[in-house]
Amino acid sequence: MEVILDEKNVVEWVNQGEGAANLVLAYTRSSLMFIRKVMRIRKVSRNGVEVTRMRSPSALTAHERFLWKDVHELISSSDNETAGQLFVHHVMKSLLGSKYVDVGACMLIGVSKKFLESVEKNVICQRLTWRVDDAQVDIHRDSVLLMSDHSLFTHEDTNFCIAKAFEDELKSVVQADDGHCTENLLTLVAEAVSQSGVLDRLLEVQKLDNVDIEGAIHAYYDITHQHCPICRELGEEKLNRYSSLHSTSLDENVRIVKECLIAAITKDCSFIIVLDQGKRGIMNLNAIAYILSQLSKPLTSR
Ligand SMILES: [Zn+2]
Repeated sequence: MEVILDEKNVVEWVNQGEGAANLVLAYTRSSLMFIRKVMRIRKVSRNGVEVTRMRSPSALTAHERFLWKDVHELISSSDNETAGQLFVHHVMKSLLGSKYVDVGACMLIGVSKKFLESVEKNVICQRLTWRVDDAQVDIHRDSVLLMSDHSLFTHEDTNFCIAKAFEDELKSVVQADDGHCTENLLTLVAEAVSQSGVLDRLLEVQKLDNVDIEGAIHAYYDITHQHCPICRELGEEKLNRYSSLHSTSLDENVRIVKECLIAAITKDCSFIIVLDQGKRGIMNLNAIAYILSQLSKPLTSR
């Protein structure tokens, strides 16, 4: 990591949104190194959960290593970011199809503590209150992840988010009555996404979760050799329903938990659609399921 972003670089990045674990900032200047890139900054929960995890010497916990023991590349990874990428590459890509999944040409970029503190200060008023109460920028990191910004077009400036400007731009590529270009584009996109088949793949993977979290949790406690606190509190009728899960083999329990985790990831992944005007005005479309690793979250905290 040769480049280290400092406080003065904060103005070059704008808040683009956040999920449970990360803030995403987009680059707004012209440096070739960062253009068309977004930065993913880890957050830390205010009760310090992520801080505890960060101090772990290994990327995966012992239970996670047991669960993914068949994926050798994954269990030997030394940090969480690499583990996340390897997980997407070796587990999710084959399930969804490589053309629909971007593993991410990610790279780590060095950042100073002042940079992270300044980001935290700048974005706080743009964040939802409950998100602010829940977590803050993890200022103890010395690097952040840089990845492709799939929301950008290859040849154009995409800063036409005002509806009128967007409609005007579409006039040259979408045939429609006055004022209906956007509407027609949406129909076109819906049809193209449907035809691409990626939604079918996502649905198939989502359906791996056939016992749901309510069932998988019993398998989880068996794998981790803990007494199942759920069964302890259940009435007789429900107890019967789940008792079979406690009498299955370890291999079967591992399968249940793995598939529950994989399905959960596809239920909460981003879906990116990129359109471009091809030859003779024919529209090209890429649809990509964008998966950020959920591995660092224990099953019980979902
Ligand atoms: Zn149970």
